[in-house]
Amino acid sequence: MLVVMTAAATKEEVAAVTERIESLGLKAHPIPGAQRVAIGITGNTGALNPALFENLPGVLEVIPVSHPYKLVSRETKPEDTLVRVGGVPIGAGHFVVIAGPCSVETHEQTAAIAQAVRAAGANVLRGGAFKPRTSPYAFQGLGKRGLEILQEVGRHVGMPVVSEALDEASLELVVEHCDMIQIGARNMQNYSLLKYCGRANKPVLLKRGMAATIEELLMAAEYILSEGNYQVVLCERGIRTFADHTRNTLDLAAVVAVQRLSHLPIIVDPSHGTGKRHKVVPMARAAAAVGADGLMIEVHHEPSRALSDGLQALLPQELAQLIQQLPALLPLTGRHLIRELSATA
Ligand code: PEP
Ligand code: MN
Repeated sequence: MLVVMTAAATKEEVAAVTERIESLGLKAHPIPGAQRVAIGITGNTGALNPALFENLPGVLEVIPVSHPYKLVSRETKPEDTLVRVGGVPIGAGHFVVIAGPCSVETHEQTAAIAQAVRAAGANVLRGGAFKPRTSPYAFQGLGKRGLEILQEVGRHVGMPVVSEALDEASLELVVEHCDMIQIGARNMQNYSLLKYCGRANKPVLLKRGMAATIEELLMAAEYILSEGNYQVVLCERGIRTFADHTRNTLDLAAVVAVQRLSHLPIIVDPSHGTGKRHKVVPMARAAAAVGADGLMIEVHHEPSRALSDGLQALLPQELAQLIQQLPALLPLTGRHLIRELSATA
């Protein structure tokens, strides 16, 4: 349920409604909007009686939220959400490019790739330190040392960093060393981990599970918001289908579907989405044309020597060419590269 305040409602009136909600043992989520404040209510197991709130001072109307996800819904918040990662804005028109190696391998490798992706125009540096691999015998990542390298290199090149957390212990380390927490496809429905992310004070990049519906993706995001963390970016990274010409089937219609239903930014990962280097740039351009809020792209300066996902890694010059092409596409959907903004700011 959503309590919509009048445009003229005072802070005290908003606080009084919040107190009333909490006195009933429920959770109140004040959501400031361009015109007015709305207060989302969660924690109720059955329907609530609107009369509990509609006569309180400053209340315009009380409306039921029809979707099972409440806080991520556009019904609750019509305006696009802006997420800030370090100094980088994502969403609400700001198109982000997150790039870097699949895995942090060495300091030298991470530094070389970071410098190259920064020069290419990427905004956020990625690099996995805790790797969810299909085989227990495959490279599992450098763990804590990997995060330390990523943090050091990110500071050196002046880019915020994102890395994946696999469980509660790695989440604590990612929160300590990174600007954004990545939750991977395999953990999208790890509800305990999602709740921990909801209590963390860092933005979250939530990747779609490989067999997750849009509703399941949005419900996973709802877990994070319901714990109080509203800084969530969604990511389409391909789903499992019968098709075998790509590693996964990149579902670009998911971007359009999510943007209709939710105010959260959604970016696209054409690296895991296709699994093949020659397919990454065309699908990245398609993602930009469809209206995604950004890209996550794996890059390696020596892909044949990469310890994971070398076959889908772009060379730095391929990323640079792609980013140069984006300004031709982004105005179609009212978006702009973040560096264009900082160049003119
Ligand atoms: C990744 O981005 O490093 C990754 C493992 O991706 P996904 O969770 O989408 O498979
Ligand atoms: Mn990878």
